[in-house]
Amino acid sequence: MKDYQRILILGSTGSIGENTLNVISRHPDKLSVSGLSANTRINRLAEQAALYKANFVIVPDQHARENFINFWNKFSDNHPLPEIYVGKQALVECATGSSYDTVMIAIVGIAGLPAAMAAAQSSKRILLANKEILVSAGKVFLKSIDENNSELLPIDSEHNAIFQCLQRERKLIQKREKLNSYVNRLLLTASGGPFRKFSIQELELIKPEQACLHPNWNMGKKISIDSSTMMNKGLEVIEAHWLFSMPVNKIHVVIHPQSIIHSMVEYIDGSIIAQLGQPDMRIPIAYSLGFPDRLNSGVNFLDLVDIGRLDFKKIDLERFPCLSLSIDALNTGQEACTVLNAANEVAVDRFLKGKIRYTSIPHIIESSLNWFSRQFAIKISNLEDVMDLDKNTREFANNFNVI
Ligand code: NAD
Ligand code: MG
Repeated sequence: MKDYQRILILGSTGSIGENTLNVISRHPDKLSVSGLSANTRINRLAEQAALYKANFVIVPDQHARENFINFWNKFSDNHPLPEIYVGKQALVECATGSSYDTVMIAIVGIAGLPAAMAAAQSSKRILLANKEILVSAGKVFLKSIDENNSELLPIDSEHNAIFQCLQRERKLIQKREKLNSYVNRLLLTASGGPFRKFSIQELELIKPEQACLHPNWNMGKKISIDSSTMMNKGLEVIEAHWLFSMPVNKIHVVIHPQSIIHSMVEYIDGSIIAQLGQPDMRIPIAYSLGFPDRLNSGVNFLDLVDIGRLDFKKIDLERFPCLSLSIDALNTGQEACTVLNAANEVAVDRFLKGKIRYTSIPHIIESSLNWFSRQFAIKISNLEDVMDLDKNTREFANNFNVI
C-alpha cells in the first residue's frame, strides 16, 4: 500500500462512514482524514471532524452550516473550524480536488453519483460502497474510471469477497476482460433477510421498524429494507456484472443464513474459492484501505467450531420478486437498470414514510419498468442522460397510485 493516504469520506455519518473512521483510527501512521460529508446528523459530523482533525467538511445547506458552527463552538475549545463547503456542487468539487488520495463513496442512493463521477475523473483510488451507482450508471461510471486510470475497489462485502477470491485474475478485471475462460460462476451469498420464512400474507403486514432490523448486519435504513425484499441481492447481481464483466447467467445467488461466507468464485476445474469472516464491514473496508497489503480491521477472529455449521438454501423467487425484476432489468439493458434503481429508491422511501404497504414495493418497481418499456428508445450515454431518466422514473413511481 501507499505509505500514507489522506481519505475523503462522502457520507461519513452513516453506517459505512462510521466503520471507515473506526478502521482509520487504528492506523494513524498510515491513514488520515482529509474531508467528511453528511446530509443530516450535523452534530455527529462536527464530532467526527474534531476527533479526526478533518481539514474540511461538506454540508447540504446554509442551515446545516450554521448548525455545524454552533455545535463546534460549544465543544471545540476554540480549535479552528475546518473549511465548510455547502451544497451538492461542493460535493462534486471536493471529489475532483487534490486534497485527498482515496475517497470512500458511502452516500446512499443515486445522490452519490455526481460526486462519484467527479472522483472517477480524478485518477484516484475509489472505494465504492454505494451500489446504486453501478446499477443506475455502471456503463458510464466504469468508462470514466477506465479513461482516467482511476482505481476502483469494491466495498460491498460480497464483491469485496469475490475480488479477494480472484487474486490471479486482477489484471483481467482491470482491463474489463471476460473471466469466462477461468471462471464458471460467481456465487453471491444472501442471508435471506429477516422475512426469509414469512408467507405472502404475513409479508403484507410488515411495518418499517421490522424491516429495518437485519438479523446479521447493522446498516442504514435503505439497504436494510432492500435486504429484506431481496432487492439488495438484485442490485448486487447487477453490481457484480459490472465489476467483474460477468454475464448474468454466470452470477448465482444462494441463501446462506449465517452470513459467514461472504461470496465465492467457482472455477472451471470445479474448485470453489470462498472468503469467510465475521459479518462486519470493517473487513472489506480495511482490505480496500490497505490494498494490496492487509491492515488490522479491529474485527474479532472467526471461531469456526463455535459457529458449528454453515447452511445453504435455494432462493424463493415467488415471495421475493425483486430479485427476478433485477435480473430481467439487467437482461434488458442499462436503461432498465436505471429505472429499476430509481423506482426502488422511491418505493422504499414511500414505505418508510408509512404511505404504502411492504408488498407494494415490487409492484411500484414492476409498473415503472412496464412504463419504461412503453417509452420511445431512450439511450444513456452520459451522466445527464442517467439523471434525466432517474428523474422521470421518480415522477412516475411517486405518482403511481397504490397503497
Ligand atoms: P446510511 O443511511 O447509514 O448513511 C448514508 C450516508 O449518506 C449518511 O452520512 C448521510 O448523511 C449521507 N446521505 C444520505 N443522503 C444523502 C444525500 N442526498 N446527499 C448527500 N449525502 C447523503 O447508509 P449506509 O448503510 O452507510 O450505506 C451507504 C451505501 O453503502 C449504500 O449505498 C449501501 O447500499 C452501501 N452498502 C452499505 C453496507 C452497510 O453495511 N451499511 C454494506 C454494503 C453496501
Ligand atoms: Mg452486500
